[in-house]
Amino acid sequence: MATTTLPIAPPQIRHQQCFIGGQWVDSVSGKTFATVNPATEEEICQVAEGDAEDVDLAVQAARNALENGPWAGMDARDRGGLMYKLADLIEQELDELAALETLDNGKPIRDARAADLPLVIDCLRYYAGYADKFHGKTIPVRGNFFTYTRREPIGVAGQIIPWNFPLLMAAWKWGPALAAGCTIVMKPAEQTPLTCLRLAQLAQDAGFPDGVINVVPGFGPTAGAAVVKHPGVDKVAFTGEYKTAQIIMRDAAETLKRLTFELGGKSPNIVFADADLEAAAAGAHFGLFFNQGQCCCAGSRLFVEESIHDKFVDKLVALSKDCKIGDPLDPETQQGPQVDKAQFDKIMEYIDLGNRQGAQCLTGGQRAGERGYFIEPTVFDAVTDDMAIATEEIFGPVMNILKFKDVDEIVDRANNTFYGLAAAVWTRDIGKAHHIARHVKAGTVWVNCYDVFDAAAPFGGFKMSGIGRELGEKALDNYLEDKTVTVALD
Ligand code: ADP
Repeated sequence: MATTTLPIAPPQIRHQQCFIGGQWVDSVSGKTFATVNPATEEEICQVAEGDAEDVDLAVQAARNALENGPWAGMDARDRGGLMYKLADLIEQELDELAALETLDNGKPIRDARAADLPLVIDCLRYYAGYADKFHGKTIPVRGNFFTYTRREPIGVAGQIIPWNFPLLMAAWKWGPALAAGCTIVMKPAEQTPLTCLRLAQLAQDAGFPDGVINVVPGFGPTAGAAVVKHPGVDKVAFTGEYKTAQIIMRDAAETLKRLTFELGGKSPNIVFADADLEAAAAGAHFGLFFNQGQCCCAGSRLFVEESIHDKFVDKLVALSKDCKIGDPLDPETQQGPQVDKAQFDKIMEYIDLGNRQGAQCLTGGQRAGERGYFIEPTVFDAVTDDMAIATEEIFGPVMNILKFKDVDEIVDRANNTFYGLAAAVWTRDIGKAHHIARHVKAGTVWVNCYDVFDAAAPFGGFKMSGIGRELGEKALDNYLEDKTVTVALD
């Protein structure tokens, strides 16, 4: 995979319109909105602001492609072939896409190159291999009948994604949908539309027929809600806040849409005294600060066993002080800006709340620099279970350390949240590790590691962290309907 370590030139902005039915078009209203570079607070460019009329055109194009176009009659293996081709084109453009992601989102270029893009490519290849492997069953029934099942695409998939991993979230949603033979109307996040638009062009270059993939940039309550309410959309996959999911669920009730949700978390990361403390400290740091803390699975409740608390905290503080904040296009930078002013303000309010509620700020706690939405890596100690910083999702570079005494107490405390996305445990005692893995209510449990993602490993939430799973074989079910066919043999 080609990567460079040279200073990064600002990437070219090639697409600012809606991508509908294989064409680049302005929004019907002619309106545009600004996408902003979070490192400088300057506008990068204007992007078409889609709304209900644009979504309607996109749904028509998607339905037409689903029912009439070459996609409808394409051999499944050829469908997979297009996905492999798209993955190849992304790989050829890895550096440029990574730079575009960094420009629009603020994530360090080294992360975009080493994590986001390789995971995107892997995800598309993983699902490409599934395209020709949807097997129905023959079923023995009473009487002289032949019964079999077919697995058919669910139809037009409406996909609404957030801004924290713009390309990766697109890949997680396109992968299973395309493999299953669905067509897509995607609404990228308003903060970060640029890479998704570029991806749409690469899909066209790869040979996807017109209308299979449509991208309508715009805002949530307008373009997003239009996707959810449209009767021509068969299924909605959403990643974002649980409060938005509640609105989507209400909006989807009218048309009884199939829904899958990947939402937030307040994930417990549990460090026992018998753990490899160097590895645990590095893992706890990474598990919280990766992507500026803007991860739904961030280990944002760090439970540390009492007996090692002081020395462990010293290690964490040292790691945070060492972190290089700055221009995300600089390959040395480890932490970039938060994605926008709204997130920046929200995080600063939580820091203030942490201080006021009696947590002890050991390092950070301030804005970094004067331009851009940068926040110092912040570590709070003496956090208690009831504080706002321990119960609410902060989505920023704010680590919260809580003490615990023993294994009996920790499971209940870890589960004392309406979230259930992820959890981690650090210990050399395999029995303890499996005990936590079994009893913690979370869709993913990492043992002696954090944030290990793989296209083949399902990801999603218990409780209010989501409905359904993304990635892995299971995610394909979200995009398929089972049809039972019974034939009289008399
Ligand atoms: P965040 O607060 O992190 O931006 P959101 O849940 O608000 O998280 O946003 C995630 C995605 O959901 C974005 O693409 C956003 O535009 C979209 N969205 C927000 N509100 C709605 C809504 N009412 N209906 C559909 N999509 C929405």
